[in-house]
Amino acid sequence: MGRRASPRRRGTFWVVCGPSGAGKTTLLNRLRKRFSDLHYVPSYTSRPPRSAAERRAGRYKFISKEEFVKLIRENAFLEYALYAGNYYGTVKAPVNDHLAAGRDVIKEADVQGMRELRQRRLPGRLVGIFILPPSLEELERRLSGRGTESTAAQQRRLSAALKELGGLYFFDYIVVNRNVRESLARLGAMIQVERARRE
Ligand code: 5GP
Repeated sequence: MGRRASPRRRGTFWVVCGPSGAGKTTLLNRLRKRFSDLHYVPSYTSRPPRSAAERRAGRYKFISKEEFVKLIRENAFLEYALYAGNYYGTVKAPVNDHLAAGRDVIKEADVQGMRELRQRRLPGRLVGIFILPPSLEELERRLSGRGTESTAAQQRRLSAALKELGGLYFFDYIVVNRNVRESLARLGAMIQVERARRE
């Protein structure tokens, strides 16, 4: 589904948020495949990779806490947040460059990040999507089924997820992720509606 970027229009910045375990990564990967003109921008994080495969997957740029703090001091981030003890952030340059050139960007962030982005002046439009798991029980099940975190870390993630629900206000769309196919169809419809709106 290709679209040529016209010099008159600015890009849309799609920010996808949702508690870890809601299915956000799967949906993002599938969306990127379906819309080749959505430019994915990886996050920077001080969290260590969960596996070698995660390091290769390109979702994150893994850096040390010291490097992260140095980038904060250099004012390199559009937003950043401390989540369950690790830093996560969006570096300014790639997002601003794509938007100013009329290209759409997609990336993930947490609620604090979205709140910060709402206060930024961006060379494009900001649209927030919040992905929800079907229930809290299902979220717990998915987090423990992943087997990549200790029980204490799972608990921290669960309480972070509960806190995030208070931030739904910052988002334009909410998707309850019952199954991937249905959620993808909804996300695709949102993208098409937003594109139709401004052209
Ligand atoms: P995880 O450790 O499960 O990969 O991510 C933890 C949380 O950090 C998730 O809610 C994820 O969406 C969020 N996150 C990922 N990248 C960024 C980012 O660049 N900025 C912010 N604020 N949060 C992010």
